[in-house]
Parts: sequence; C-alpha cells; structure tokens
Amino acid sequence: MHTRTACLAWFVLPRQIVAWIFPRFLGLVCLLSLPRAFSPSVRAAETLATAQGDVVINPIQHASMVLQWNGITIYIDPVGGGAKYAAFPRADLVLITHEHGDHFDIPTLEAILKTQTVVVTSTTVGQKLPTSIGKQAHILGNGQSFKSAGGTIDAIPAYNLTAEKLKYHPKGVGNGYLLTLGGKRLYISGDTEDIPEMKALTNIDVAFVCMNLPYTMTIDQAVGAVRAFKPKVVYPYHSRGSDVARFKQEVEQDSAISARILKWYP
Ligand SMILES: [Zn+2]
Repeated sequence: MHTRTACLAWFVLPRQIVAWIFPRFLGLVCLLSLPRAFSPSVRAAETLATAQGDVVINPIQHASMVLQWNGITIYIDPVGGGAKYAAFPRADLVLITHEHGDHFDIPTLEAILKTQTVVVTSTTVGQKLPTSIGKQAHILGNGQSFKSAGGTIDAIPAYNLTAEKLKYHPKGVGNGYLLTLGGKRLYISGDTEDIPEMKALTNIDVAFVCMNLPYTMTIDQAVGAVRAFKPKVVYPYHSRGSDVARFKQEVEQDSAISARILKWYP
C-alpha cells in the first residue's frame, strides 16, 4: 500500500508540476515574443543611435516633443501645460521655433524649466519672454548657431512662400533647427513651406517636417521637399488633418528615405 501510494505520488506529482509549469512556460514564451511582434517599428521609430548613446524621441502633441540623449532632456516647442510633461525630467535645453501659441507658451515653460536650463529661441519669442526666463535665453536669428550641452544648434529659416500664406510666417521671423547630437543631425522644420534652405540641407539623419493647411505645407509640397533633401528618416509632425499615410507612401518611393508615423494627436 505504502509502495503503491509512493508510486502514485511519483506519477501524479510530476504531472501536477507539468500542469503548473506548462501554461506558465507558454505564457512566458508568448510574453517574450510580444516585443518582437510589435516593437520593431515602434522602437526603431523612437530612437536614433549616436556616438554618445541613443536619442529617444518622445512625441507629445502636434509640434511639441521631448528628446532624451546622453543624460540631457531637450524640449522642442513645449506647450499644453506642465502636466503633459510630468513623465520627464525638467529641461536641460529648450528650443522654441516661433511665437505662435502651438509652439510657445509661457506657463508651460515655467513648469518645465530649471535655473540651469538653456532656452534657444527666435528673436520674436525672445522679445516676449518675461525677464525671469529671458535671462536663460539665447536668441538666434536665421542662420545663427549656438553650442550647448554637447550639441550644436543651427537656426534654419522657416517661412511661407505662397502669397496667401505669407501672413502666417513671414520670412526672417521663425526658426527651424538643425540639432547635432553625438554626430547625428536632426532637423526640426518649424512652420514653413518647401523653402530652398530646407531643400539644400544635406546629410540629415532625422527630420521632423510640418504639413498642414492653411499654415504650412500641402502633402505634395512636403513630399517634394523631403525627396529633395533626402533625410534618412522623416517624421511628419504638425500634421493635424493631413493625409500622412499618403505622405509616407509617396516619400518612400525614394527607397533611401524611411517615413515614420508617430502618434501626435490623441
Ligand atoms: Zn506658426
């Protein structure tokens, strides 16, 4: 009897163990394969490898984003209130392209700045900053450059070309930015049309390009401009209401360019 019980236990116990382990093992396998199934496009779309570690790209909304690189946190056109940025450290560097409300908001700046933050802005934004923020600001006109926190910032012109749009972004006011981080070149267009200065850019690793009406570019303009300067990767942004899927499809007819669509709108 004793022997039979022992034999039974010997037979039953492993089955119980197997019954316990097997579904968990399957679950673990599924869990481990999930990132492979879903993440390559997402993860690849959100990081850029540089000589000093990855740039992590966090789209916030519309034209606002946070870049994290080499221990520093870079805010681009932060608006929408401090709560939107609660997941991120306060800024080491802030780039503001121009004075429109979807790019520049003083209460948001007050929420994300620290005393050491460097703020790089256009001339018009510089004139609107309160003294408390102005003392941390470096004002760049089109074509000027600034070195900060291991990176270089070049102010690229950003303006409208079409007669009926000139009232939005006249030439000489707004900046786009070319940000060089760990040897990689990131272009942030600001609000602009397909200007010659954009088409003449070279060796761009990542570009954020605006496309929405009536303020910036049509999809056709954006496709033409991007295919002219051939960034390795382009992210449509500032694209509310625009057919970014068509942009991606058309721009990728140039096989050297990868267009990646991030979630800029809720
Ligand atoms: Zn604007």
